[in-house]
Amino acid sequence: SKKARLDRFISQTLFERDPVNPVSKKQVRLLLAQGRIRVNGRPAESISQPIDFFSRIELDGELLQSNRALYLMLYKPVGVVTAVTDDEHKTVIDLIDHPDKAQLHHVGRLDLNTSGLLLLTNDGDWSTVLTLPDKDVEKCYEVELARPVNKDYVPVFEQGIWFDYEGITTRPARLEILDDYHARVWLTEGRYHQVKRMFGHFRNEVVKLHRSSLGSLQLDPTLKPGQWRALTLQELEDLN
Ligand code: URA
Repeated sequence: SKKARLDRFISQTLFERDPVNPVSKKQVRLLLAQGRIRVNGRPAESISQPIDFFSRIELDGELLQSNRALYLMLYKPVGVVTAVTDDEHKTVIDLIDHPDKAQLHHVGRLDLNTSGLLLLTNDGDWSTVLTLPDKDVEKCYEVELARPVNKDYVPVFEQGIWFDYEGITTRPARLEILDDYHARVWLTEGRYHQVKRMFGHFRNEVVKLHRSSLGSLQLDPTLKPGQWRALTLQELEDLN
């Protein structure tokens, strides 16, 4: 997560607590020299010591910051917007009842009318890496179509489809046809409305879209729409 300097953090935090009596740089240095500041349980070594959102920082034994990393999976229901705030719709954050929910952001995005697996975290480094274009995380979508799908789609999905707006060809995507109106698609990228636009190439409308997995991670089948749970250590390790 975002790197900061210890002295700036101390100055800023103490200023927020008592704006009338800001501490000087010299006072911060003194606190440090007196061994009154601890970082992750140890006396701070230098005022320029790098810290981040997850560093545990104490002054005279009092906690100034202690955040633990959160990694959650949410079964996003249809009709909820993938955003932190929204004027019109309920957001994915609104579905989370966790004391630290204000720190959370979503990893990637699902459309308003798309359901399924969505990750939420307060660890910006982790979500950045996970969403890097060359990370190649395969996402699986369950698709229901307005018109019959057929095997002619398969090589086209495999070769890629030209997206005029972005001026790109989609990466090779795997398409598995389940029956006339149902298919499964695996993508390694996430362009705007990508699945819908890929079927749109065939003038076939996606009437239902659901993300069932992301990399090694499956949507927990015991979760109901709108429910969430923390990732297990194993799931985290497998994802990274
Ligand atoms: N593709 C879409 O069209 N919508 C989504 O929400 C995800 C992938």
